[in-house]
Amino acid sequence: MRILVTGGCGFIGSALVLHLVAELGHEVMTLDALTYAANPVSLAALADDPRHRLVEADICDTAAVRAAFAAFAPQAVMHLAAESHVDRSISEPGAFIRTNVIGTQVMLDAARGHFEGLSGSERAAFRFLHVSTDEVYGSLPPGGFFTEASRYDPRSPYSASKAASDHLARAWHETYGLPVLVTNCSNNYGPRHFPEKLIPLMILNALEGKPLPVYGDGLNERDWIHVEDHAGGLVAVLERGRIGETYLLGGRAVRSNLDVVRALCAAFDAVRPDRGPHERLITFVADRPGHDRRYAIDPGKAEAELGWSPSKRFEAALTETVRWYLDNEAWWRPIREGRYKGERLGLGASP
Ligand code: NAD
Repeated sequence: MRILVTGGCGFIGSALVLHLVAELGHEVMTLDALTYAANPVSLAALADDPRHRLVEADICDTAAVRAAFAAFAPQAVMHLAAESHVDRSISEPGAFIRTNVIGTQVMLDAARGHFEGLSGSERAAFRFLHVSTDEVYGSLPPGGFFTEASRYDPRSPYSASKAASDHLARAWHETYGLPVLVTNCSNNYGPRHFPEKLIPLMILNALEGKPLPVYGDGLNERDWIHVEDHAGGLVAVLERGRIGETYLLGGRAVRSNLDVVRALCAAFDAVRPDRGPHERLITFVADRPGHDRRYAIDPGKAEAELGWSPSKRFEAALTETVRWYLDNEAWWRPIREGRYKGERLGLGASP
């Protein structure tokens, strides 16, 4: 199958592209603008693989996107390209509206033009999978879970821009008959995660003996899914999801931010006992404005309909993730020293 993946040089996109090509044998075109968040090294394993090609292009560039469709003739699109960091959306919202809203419209329009030119059997097989976040649903009360029926209530520029893109994707299905599927997923963790997000930031700070900054009281809760479980879920939705439907993907691992940082400290104490206890590095910093208290996913629909479920256990997979960063300094060192903008923005640490 020929699959066009946008944002394939990012954290989730690279895990997905590696899975699609190296494990499932699909042909993939990665379309990515290579923003600060991209690391093409993440796809280095596919450098000489004829089944993969990387096109550097902005999803807001209509001509470039149309050219990619014409050159590759995809049988499916998996749309992940986005501005993804909540703190940046607070300081620079315009980039989020541009990429997440306008860029999605450009992708949907190009896909529609391509779809309308397909033959009957090709049309029946074509899918456009729009990848989104549980943050569109806002904050949950204690003990609550999001389902596909949850009301949209985005509260940050990031989540509002992703909510807008979800509505556009569904509208292109209803209005133009584009075979759209939508996924909303919880917080991801795992290898190749850009070091401005909570888990990699904490890992690299712990490694360097720096403070581990936790927003507010640290009791904000998130539902964590390993990036490979997410990639598997996206493939399951693409292959077996019902057109026009939404599927929530989550890891069934709700933890407070403080629980996550403590688990990381425990992992570090095991790997570097000479530097422990690492919990002494935890420092509490002023909370993020509008910081949602709880996100948690009920992935029951995806599990029941698609035969998919998250396979990784959080604490064990977190320890594997720590080891990945210890073993792959060549991946993160240039970001940390050169292009890393997190410290300039004075970011705290939250997903
Ligand atoms: P990321 O920031 O790591 O990667 C985003 C990628 O998109 C980068 O490679 C970047 O270069 C590319 N990109 C950005 N703007 C672009 C543009 N205008 N044109 C083309 N490419 C552009 O993001 P991620 O964490 O891998 O998230 C991927 C998708 O999954 C996003 O849509 C995000 O909303 C969604 N999502 C993320 C999470 C999470 O925990 N990270 C959870 C749920 C959903």
